[in-house]
Amino acid sequence: MSTAVHATSFAPPVTATGAAANLVGLDRTELEAVMTELDQPKFRARQLWHWIYHRGATDFDAMTTLAKELRALLADRYVVGRPTVTVDRQSIDGTRKWLLKFDDAQEVECVHIPEEDRGALCVSSQVGCTLTCKFCHTGTQRLVRNLSAAEIVGQVMLARDALGEWPSPPDGRQLSNIVMMGMGEPLYNYENVAKALKIVMDHEGIAISKRRITLSTAGVVPMIERAGKELGVNLAISLHAVTDEIRDAIVPINKKYPIAELMRACRDYPGLSNARRITFEYVMLKGVNDTPEDARALIKLIEDVPAKVNLIPFNAWPGAPFECSTPETIERFSQMLFDAGYAAPVRTPRGRDIMAACGQLKSESIRERASARAAAAT
Ligand code: SAH
Repeated sequence: MSTAVHATSFAPPVTATGAAANLVGLDRTELEAVMTELDQPKFRARQLWHWIYHRGATDFDAMTTLAKELRALLADRYVVGRPTVTVDRQSIDGTRKWLLKFDDAQEVECVHIPEEDRGALCVSSQVGCTLTCKFCHTGTQRLVRNLSAAEIVGQVMLARDALGEWPSPPDGRQLSNIVMMGMGEPLYNYENVAKALKIVMDHEGIAISKRRITLSTAGVVPMIERAGKELGVNLAISLHAVTDEIRDAIVPINKKYPIAELMRACRDYPGLSNARRITFEYVMLKGVNDTPEDARALIKLIEDVPAKVNLIPFNAWPGAPFECSTPETIERFSQMLFDAGYAAPVRTPRGRDIMAACGQLKSESIRERASARAAAAT
């Protein structure tokens, strides 16, 4: 989108602000370039990689397989940084939300959703979002910029720090899965998202496998195949409506890439099978998309795609022009899909009390700031 500002992915040793450059977000080739720059053999990049992405070290002094002089040299020019946490809140259901600030003072939110024996991290790809889906609060934000690969990987590393999960455990524990379902449209920031996910998937580093990563898109059709081919991650589609008329109104990107084109891209998504299905997300909006007729049309729409459906009860936000469907309506909708042979679980809202649920992100930070200002003024 034209309004999104593209962040550069390879940082020079010293940034424009004079701060030391961050090594987080650099891929193997770029770490080799750092070593070459320091007159070091390239293989040392592998050791550095191990310390940064497998061990989670942030202090060069801890990198004991590197010579002392090299550690000093690195410390002179670089940092292994993390985004700054401005707010850290925990829901009564255990969901944790961080508001993170980057060097230019822009902020995003990142949410950890724990389950009994695993946990997912909901990662943001942009500050704000250009899509303006009518039920999503992130879409009401005016300013939008892409996150750099460093800023995306930084969210994962920060969560690992907070969960105390370094060195990377074999199957992840509380951070076993990643969902690219935070703020922003990941396929409008494809290059940085792809670079970040490749770093996250590398089995000698953070090592979260592509089978445990889900990328959610509102339907940037031309990028779907590429994401499948290059990344092989699970795909989730924010479908939300079964006719172009309704989808045009609530997910405006539909005017550009209508349902038929979107479904074609889904059918062609590389690597699909019964064991590897596309997740269709469907937000339940009272009186908008929740009739038995909608359910029947949805079943028809996905009949030739290995699919599962995730019904999301609408999460309200201040001034939102929708209401959530009633529990009975949601149940009936889910049952119809189930009877047609589809898994259609209703997504349990997590972290609603801290505005961390789907579609609520960012809003809290704006509100908090306003109330903090008000408090300061009195
Ligand atoms: N831009 C991507 C990533 C966002 S994922 C995408 O659209 O897929 C966030 C998911 O939550 C999407 O399925 C989105 O449509 C859904 N969502 C947005 N606002 C919501 C709300 N208020 N209640 C429930 N789900 C919402």
